[in-house]
Amino acid sequence: MSKEQRVRGAPTNIDPAALKNFKAEMRGSVLAPDETGYDEARKAWNTTYDQHPALVALVAGAPDVIAAVNFAREQNLRVAVQSTGHGIAYPCDGGLLINTSRMTDIQIDPQSQTARVEPGVLWGDVVNQVQAFGLAALSGFAPNVGVIGYTLGGGFGWLVRKYGLAADSVRSVDLVTADGQQAHVSDMSNSDLFWGLRGGGGNFGIVTSIEFALYPVVEVFGGRVFYPVEMAKEVLSRYSQWVETIPYELTSTIAIMHLPSIADLPEPLRGKAMVIVGACYAGSAEDGAALLRPIREFGSPVVDTFAPMRYADTGTINSDPVEPQGPYGHTELIRELSSDAIDKLVEVAGACSKSPLTMVEIRHLGGAVAQVDRDANAISHRDAPFVLHTTALGASPEDVARLKQFTAFVAEAMRPFKTGGALLNFLGDGDVGEGRVRAVYSPEHYRRLVELKDKYDPENFFRLNHNIPPSSASR
Ligand SMILES: Cc1cc2nc3c(=O)[nH]c(=O)nc-3n(C[C@H](O)[C@H](O)[C@H](O)COP(=O)(O)OP(=O)(O)OC[C@H]3O[C@@H](n4cnc5c(N)ncnc54)[C@H](O)[C@@H]3O)c2cc1C
Repeated sequence: MSKEQRVRGAPTNIDPAALKNFKAEMRGSVLAPDETGYDEARKAWNTTYDQHPALVALVAGAPDVIAAVNFAREQNLRVAVQSTGHGIAYPCDGGLLINTSRMTDIQIDPQSQTARVEPGVLWGDVVNQVQAFGLAALSGFAPNVGVIGYTLGGGFGWLVRKYGLAADSVRSVDLVTADGQQAHVSDMSNSDLFWGLRGGGGNFGIVTSIEFALYPVVEVFGGRVFYPVEMAKEVLSRYSQWVETIPYELTSTIAIMHLPSIADLPEPLRGKAMVIVGACYAGSAEDGAALLRPIREFGSPVVDTFAPMRYADTGTINSDPVEPQGPYGHTELIRELSSDAIDKLVEVAGACSKSPLTMVEIRHLGGAVAQVDRDANAISHRDAPFVLHTTALGASPEDVARLKQFTAFVAEAMRPFKTGGALLNFLGDGDVGEGRVRAVYSPEHYRRLVELKDKYDPENFFRLNHNIPPSSASR
């Protein structure tokens, strides 16, 4: 570690006696910058954030979380919570990072078809375990994303059109609030907070366990079909008509992607630009194949990976990167995939665009998401039919500057088709700031969330996140 890094993370103003007591109280460990394990524990999956907390608390249970929250408050330290670092929005420099990755307990109740998990649990572990009971959870596309961050931010997975967002299936939450108290939150208890937690992100406390519904899904029909990027307009046009006809059991995406030249990919895809339709059908392989025929038997696909598979293996459909990366992302909800919108997309991301972006993806919403009561929880914009999401990977600062510029160019080009809203989980580095967080919510939902913040976290103790400031606080 360099001298500069030491200074950035060094716990200069912490009372040594209080630190000693804190360490003694913890079942897990507390690591300072000069201690073994600190570097591993401070790392986020998103490598853009090279954070240097004063201390990392590797918590082993709810009592550790309470001790950490109290210690941070008493020592006037900023606090952040991290399970994987996939969704980090601000670095925890000089503060206390509460790392939950060691809290990995999973309890499954096959009778009530629910699971309760601790905050270090990843989706891949849940879906593999519940599979044995003939059940599925509303996991995301990437198995190594954390359950809690994903669920508090909404949670869009391959069953989203059939069963809704993950937040819609939460039954109860245990969390530690800013005053160091533990609260059990459900429809029956602290129901105002229960409303806000489902969609409000990490603004209200540190979740120590979450209980959610499971669904009877074992086998699905899923995969991706790849066409040359030169066919982007035709494939997008067909896709836009096709999604109007498909049932809730079918969730799909379409993306223009510049694929890396890596051995993991089939040879014809390596280093190529492609237009790709991905989908998962929660039903029989026969029905799935019939429903997907208009998309798969259109021209001559370069590669087609569709096959019957276990729901637990749906992480292979998109093959999201497992190794840490530093993606630059941006998102918008899109009101239509009209021919004008398609022309614009092809212009800015298609074969002649010289786009340096890794991916411009559109995910299809609707279905069960739009059926849930508008005020059931803090999720807004349920009517939006599509979410647009761009990702770019840059190696050098010059690359990153160019990617940012191009991302802004794409965003501007798509402006006529935006709803103005966004989904919390898809906010990327191009979306940081209060204005973008406000865009996630309807004005009425945002007002209710600020009221909750005033009630449960008036000092904005939990602010290193996609922050909803209380009415009195500033970042
Ligand atoms: C490769 C990749 C694939 C993705 N795929 C999808 C997808 O398919 N669908 C989708 O909806 N989203 C997806 N996301 C977005 C992802 O759901 C969010 O980034 C989410 O915040 C990640 O949660 P985490 O716990 O893994 O990350 P972390 O960075 O550890 O946490 C992110 C934030 O969540 C909050 N949080 C985490 N743990 C707690 C806790 N115990 N208590 C309170 N707050 C907490 C905090 O605000 C924290 O800053 C993806 C992201 C990436 C990078």
